[in-house]
Amino acid sequence: MPDQPHTHQILNPATEEVVATVPATGAAEVDTAVVRAAGAQRRWAAAAPADRARLLRRFAAVVDGHVEELARLEVKEAGHTLGNARWEAGNVRDLLDYAAGGVERLTGRQIPVAGGLDITLLEPLGVVGVIAPWNFPMPIAAWGTAPALAAGNAVLLKPAETTPLTALRLAELALEAGLPEHLFQVLPGAGDITGQALVEHPGVAKIVFTGSTRVGKEIMARGARLLKRVTLELGGKSPNIVFADADIERAAAEAPMAFLDNAGQDCCARTRVLVQRTAYDRFLELLTPAVRSVVVGDPSDEKTQMGPLISRVQLERVRGYVPDDRAAVRGSAPGGPGFWFPPTVLTGVAADDPAVTEEIFGPVAVVLPFDDEEDAIRLANDTAYGLSGSLWTRDIGRALRVSRAVAAGNLSVNSHSSVRYSTPFGGYKQSGVGRELGPDALTAFTETKNIFISTEA
Ligand code: NAP
Ligand code: MG
Repeated sequence: MPDQPHTHQILNPATEEVVATVPATGAAEVDTAVVRAAGAQRRWAAAAPADRARLLRRFAAVVDGHVEELARLEVKEAGHTLGNARWEAGNVRDLLDYAAGGVERLTGRQIPVAGGLDITLLEPLGVVGVIAPWNFPMPIAAWGTAPALAAGNAVLLKPAETTPLTALRLAELALEAGLPEHLFQVLPGAGDITGQALVEHPGVAKIVFTGSTRVGKEIMARGARLLKRVTLELGGKSPNIVFADADIERAAAEAPMAFLDNAGQDCCARTRVLVQRTAYDRFLELLTPAVRSVVVGDPSDEKTQMGPLISRVQLERVRGYVPDDRAAVRGSAPGGPGFWFPPTVLTGVAADDPAVTEEIFGPVAVVLPFDDEEDAIRLANDTAYGLSGSLWTRDIGRALRVSRAVAAGNLSVNSHSSVRYSTPFGGYKQSGVGRELGPDALTAFTETKNIFISTEA
């Protein structure tokens, strides 16, 4: 096992200034955390459901009282725009509230059988490991954590090395709200050390991972030795399909932020804009000024729509997809320090070009023409991924046909919304395994136990 560095420096991606230095968690400390979590979990699962629900609601209330503080921290460590960061902190509160409502509704079933009574119990798994990425540190941490706790589990959260600060603050707020010690622990550190120790620990029953498809597969393979439960939320290359019969003005006005939000570092980013040929020129004519008008700059300024990329590594990755002379449309970006990349649209790119096939995770979209509905569906599905997609049309029959035909977990019609805490979320194909959020979120953190009770005299 490689040596664990003792600390990790957290940079502000907008300024490259050091924001904090965070100690890393070694494999031995992970083991200690698992043992403590297991003890806390047993007591938590034995507590009255109403008390567990009350504590989670209290945690939500404490988060609500710290939305601004958490948001400012997210702006500093992740370069998110202030508006986005406030939404993200609020999302943590909402996830906790929603999960709290599930504690007393996590009901099993009574199934008709001969000779007795048959019931099912939904029992907690035990200790759950949540491995979060840097692109949405707070929401994604809470997607796993809130329902896992609500279902009676303990949670060990490993944030991304680049963005541990909001997670560490959330753990403090959990204690302030009265959650039992060791029930929710945050273990900052590197993926291949701290993360891997969680994956390989026999005391961790399930791993909830969000990140790259490559690491997701590695976690599934390593976890398989222990038959570890996994939920994987991986990459995407989502289509935004614009039919000629759509409200083209609206489709063009909303297309930019559908791939530029969070500087494109969004697994649901609509980065393949597919436009029906008869509307193609008009659409590009409208898209061009819309992309150029996006305000890129200081993420702590309320007017800013797009901030920097997370790191120099990410900046270099994104640059690799876009040689300088290639962009059809370029927006603006600040010079000087910070990991800035301008909004970029590519046209006339070959179907097998990496910019078309790979997840760039930056503010870059490709626009491709299609002929008819069949052609649109073929192009939309011409990807290894299957996370999200949007389609724009005024024809309701077409909207339903195309929604059914696109192999992706989250589709939106005449809108780009895809993630709500109350609706299920997850990927087809290489975009993942399992679902998060929605009415069944808690069930994913339980084992079903069937009990038959004889009524024979
Ligand atoms: P990543 O390596 O997959 O990181 C995601 C999380 O997994 C981080 O907490 C990471 O820790 C951890 N990790 C890494 N290797 C691990 C291992 N062997 N065992 C257990 N945990 C491990 O993603 P990335 O390197 O940050 O980003 C690379 C690309 O992945 C992006 O450009 C993007 O295409 C994609 N991505 C997708 C999403 C998404 O929402 N689907 C999110 C992030 C990235 P460290 O922080 O130490 O690496
Ligand atoms: Mg990594």
